[in-house]
Amino acid sequence: MLPLAKASDSVWPSGSPPGYERRRPELGTLHKVVRENLQTLLSAAEQGFAGAPLPDFVRAELEGYVHCGLLQRGFALVACRDCGERHLVAFSCRSRSFCPSCMGRRMAATTLNLLAHVVPSVGLRQYVLTVPHALRARLAYDGRLLGAVSRIFVDSVLGWYRRRMEIEGAARGQSGAVTVVQRTSADLKLNPHMHLVALDGVFVAGSSDGKPVFHALPRISDTAVADLLQVIRARLLRYLIRHHVVEDDEGETRFLADDLQEREPALAQLAAAAVAGLPPAGPELRRKPLTVVLPASDGPKVVRPLCIEDGGFSLHAASRVGAEDDLGRTNLFKYVLRPPIAQEHVTLTEDGLVAIQLKKPFRDGTVSVEMDPLSLVSRLAASVHPPRFHSIRYGGILAAHAKLRPFVIPPPPPETTTAPGAQDACHSLPMAKPPKPRPATHRCGYVPWQRLMQKLGIDVETCPRCGGKMKVIALVRDPQGIARYLRHLGLPTEEPSMAPARGPPFWQSRVLRRRYGEPPDAAQA
Ligand SMILES: [Zn+2]
Ligand SMILES: [Zn+2]
Repeated sequence: MLPLAKASDSVWPSGSPPGYERRRPELGTLHKVVRENLQTLLSAAEQGFAGAPLPDFVRAELEGYVHCGLLQRGFALVACRDCGERHLVAFSCRSRSFCPSCMGRRMAATTLNLLAHVVPSVGLRQYVLTVPHALRARLAYDGRLLGAVSRIFVDSVLGWYRRRMEIEGAARGQSGAVTVVQRTSADLKLNPHMHLVALDGVFVAGSSDGKPVFHALPRISDTAVADLLQVIRARLLRYLIRHHVVEDDEGETRFLADDLQEREPALAQLAAAAVAGLPPAGPELRRKPLTVVLPASDGPKVVRPLCIEDGGFSLHAASRVGAEDDLGRTNLFKYVLRPPIAQEHVTLTEDGLVAIQLKKPFRDGTVSVEMDPLSLVSRLAASVHPPRFHSIRYGGILAAHAKLRPFVIPPPPPETTTAPGAQDACHSLPMAKPPKPRPATHRCGYVPWQRLMQKLGIDVETCPRCGGKMKVIALVRDPQGIARYLRHLGLPTEEPSMAPARGPPFWQSRVLRRRYGEPPDAAQA
């Protein structure tokens, strides 16, 4: 049991240490909305949809979010080794789906790791691929299909680099890519799409010392992007036909039903609604099945410069950052790894709807989307990744087994392999022992004692007072210990309560889009 400080020599005279502001997730709008509607969604699924409950992984993720960051669920006591500064760090849900805090931290850590250990200092270009509506719900819950689609996308882009650079005189070149799957659009509609960050050119193995030389891709045109999209689309359709996801019926590409409806009826309905942007039940739900025919190609269309649409697929290739642009590179990876929803963009309107402010307006001028709270929680539920889903993949020269990879990734900074107690750049926890030398391709490792910390989502940071290293000195997990400690510090011992399930009718069935410059009452459904 952890010894408590006496009231007179309390470590924090004011209840919290100076300069340290603990995150208070329970005060945010998103947290409140989930807390007040989660039980209703669970019971609506069971009674309302197909008489089937939502699967456990969805439920666990939503409940995990409600408990994330609450001191009443347990915490670590951390202290600064240098100045003795102390504070409490609550356990995190470690969500990989939507928790803005956990995903925000993951975004920052992964960006740091990619730039320090994986991505060479060459120009980078982002390619974003979206697929037709009819495919989205299926892709969202079929990990194998999603894996295949992302592999085809990566192969097509890397092959395209090889062919184009051959024309430029760089034969047998190899590019590389980091691909991130995002599951939703900015308005939280279910829309699995891929962000691929490619090395904008190819590496060619050097003749004398074997060290590869980079050849950058010259400017690209809309025609080049349109050609690439046609390659990707043709390869994807061939794959989908071969694997009986769609069938080609006299020139019409029909979508074949999958077994999600039978396996997980509630999830299937939730997914279909989240793709269409409708509530999963209520008067607005059209009971006819979702579009079954893939749109036919009427030739590639230039939507914006370097952004092409063709038969329901779209490819965007306009974002590029230079080799020297450190801020641009950081922002690019943060963008592709960002959480689907930002805490500060969710607000409650006067008429009880939840508004999501879009960071970038949609093409039709929509700047915010409003929906009833239960619809928002339904969309969050659809945004939860199925288990064992890998959202980041490495391809080409950046793949783990690529022969040239050790020659192109950034060289290790000298202190990460020599200094005892040095920090691994991908984890902010100090290491217990000097790290063992590891091959250059596998510098991102874990030391055993960190496992528990990671399981509990505890991240020790730099001391806010002196900049020293914070260290976990105790974990408080038993309810009595937690209550005793919180009472001592004058903090609430009761966690914020979850609202009980409400009865039907569940959905107000209103989703509004606000456009720039429109008066509030002109919002359109
Ligand atoms: Zn300190
Ligand atoms: Zn969390």
